[in-house]
Amino acid sequence: MLDNTFDTIIVGGGIAGLTATAFLAREGQKVLLIEKNREPGGLVNSFSRNGFHFDAGVRALEDAGIILPMLKDLNIDLEVVKSPVSLGIENEILHIENIESLSKYSDLLKKFYPESSGEIDQVIKTIRKIMKYMDVLYGIENPLFKDLKRDTSFIFRKLLPWMPRFLFTVGKINRMQLPVEDYLKSVVKNPSLRDIIAQHFFKNTPTFFALSYFSLYLDYFYPKGGVGKLSESLKDKILELGGEVKTGTMVTEITPDSKSITDDKNITYKYKNLVWAADLKTLYRIAETENLPPEVKANFQKAKTKIENSKGGESVFTLFLQVDEPLESFGKIANGHFFYTPSRQGLGETHRQELYDILGNFSNISKQQVLTWLDKFIKLNTFEISIPGLKDKTLVPPGKTGMIISFLADYELFKKIQDEGWLQEFIAEVEHRVIEVISASVFPMLKDKVIDRFSFSPLSYHNRTASSQGAIVGWEFQKEMPVINKIQIADRSVYTPLPSVYQAGQWAYSPAGVPMSILTGKIAANRVVKSNKG
Ligand SMILES: Cc1cc2nc3c(=O)[nH]c(=O)nc-3n(C[C@H](O)[C@H](O)[C@H](O)COP(=O)(O)OP(=O)(O)OC[C@H]3O[C@@H](n4cnc5c(N)ncnc54)[C@H](O)[C@@H]3O)c2cc1C
Repeated sequence: MLDNTFDTIIVGGGIAGLTATAFLAREGQKVLLIEKNREPGGLVNSFSRNGFHFDAGVRALEDAGIILPMLKDLNIDLEVVKSPVSLGIENEILHIENIESLSKYSDLLKKFYPESSGEIDQVIKTIRKIMKYMDVLYGIENPLFKDLKRDTSFIFRKLLPWMPRFLFTVGKINRMQLPVEDYLKSVVKNPSLRDIIAQHFFKNTPTFFALSYFSLYLDYFYPKGGVGKLSESLKDKILELGGEVKTGTMVTEITPDSKSITDDKNITYKYKNLVWAADLKTLYRIAETENLPPEVKANFQKAKTKIENSKGGESVFTLFLQVDEPLESFGKIANGHFFYTPSRQGLGETHRQELYDILGNFSNISKQQVLTWLDKFIKLNTFEISIPGLKDKTLVPPGKTGMIISFLADYELFKKIQDEGWLQEFIAEVEHRVIEVISASVFPMLKDKVIDRFSFSPLSYHNRTASSQGAIVGWEFQKEMPVINKIQIADRSVYTPLPSVYQAGQWAYSPAGVPMSILTGKIAANRVVKSNKG
């Protein structure tokens, strides 16, 4: 008979679950990672089609003083290259090379909005200040990935001198939690300019997080072979360390009083500790708490209400293109990671009130009205364009280009259209318009050279990762966050009201992304180890 009892079971094989499992396996624990998809990685994943390699989720990685130290700590050798970023508006394109590029970004904005020159200077001043904070925040390798007992030189030379600067900076950051739209409104009069600076961020993104992106542009790197190599390398490490990875298996029930879980094939597993590294609404829905002590049940219920009342953040629409045109044609215009806005006009209310009006009155809105809205939405949007072959030319057949184009998109809209039965038609309309707009602006050679195309809608992201509202970085930014959102108390983000159950990943801390998912994975692993010792 199979022994289905483990020291720790980790549910969800995204980057958070993989990290937690690898570190627990290194501790010599008997660990099992359960992942619903055929391969682990979640939103850090790559795939190939007809010789074109694409990244399914995140396009490149920001170290943030976390990813590379984590790899070093686990003794993983991952070959990486820099992933330079370009920013573009209409026919002006800027390649971000170093901190000086910020002045060029300022010039670029002034070219389009000369009357706002003074206001642009003020925004740039704030970005520069934030970049200084970021230098402090990510200035040293994250201590969680250092062996502090042995590495005393790190403690004395780096950690101790850094600590007061870190605490000072955290204080400053915490005062910059205002939604970026509100901050920009207080500084910039022209709504188009405000849109151009901020429309590719999630709604209500805290100012610090949004404006820190300029630093992150300089930090992006790309694993040779695709972003998914990061997940693969962690999986290989887990197996090498004796951990078990079970894919194609979905956890459907948790029974904390008997410390057991059940999967979709009705197999039951026992754990001493559980790390939940997947959608949190699911955890609260499937946890069976009937036999828990009343005070635990009460705490669980309180947290459950908070979680249920909160919404997942925005999702994305992603178009994948196989193009019969060499990489050089595109490389002459922009880098392989490119944020591009074809119109200086900005989205205005298109992705806000106009969308809410459509959603609120959907049964009375005609298909044509939705498509008219879509026209505007695509023409005025900002696109994240990734060309994996420009970062690693082995990722495409010779003479061809693979391109990934994405933009923020609303889960509810796609869901309503699906319920009305014209999702495939709508997706084709979106794809067609994106190709038209990009061909009419930055990449004119694109239009007649597309060999094949396919896309992921917010519904695909939801189906793939079981993520509420197809969210790609966890919770929507709202006044009352259901999880920890302050960096100085990030170590508390992994606790749940359930005994011996910890949480990790993009739903456990906000704002999240790959680095924070990795960090919470490591914190959860540390807590499990500590609880065993205790
Ligand atoms: C287009 C795009 C661009 C992005 N850009 C950036 C960026 O520039 N910078 C950045 O930092 N981040 C970015 N992100 C976000 C980042 O990729 C995610 O925040 C991060 O990868 C989340 O990792 P995770 O492990 O917490 O969750 P996930 O990757 O969602 O992993 C959760 C895993 O749990 C599995 N699962 C769910 N339910 C169950 C169950 N019941 N049983 C078993 N398994 C289950 C899922 O299949 C999934 O594999 C981007 C994401 C996308 C999609």
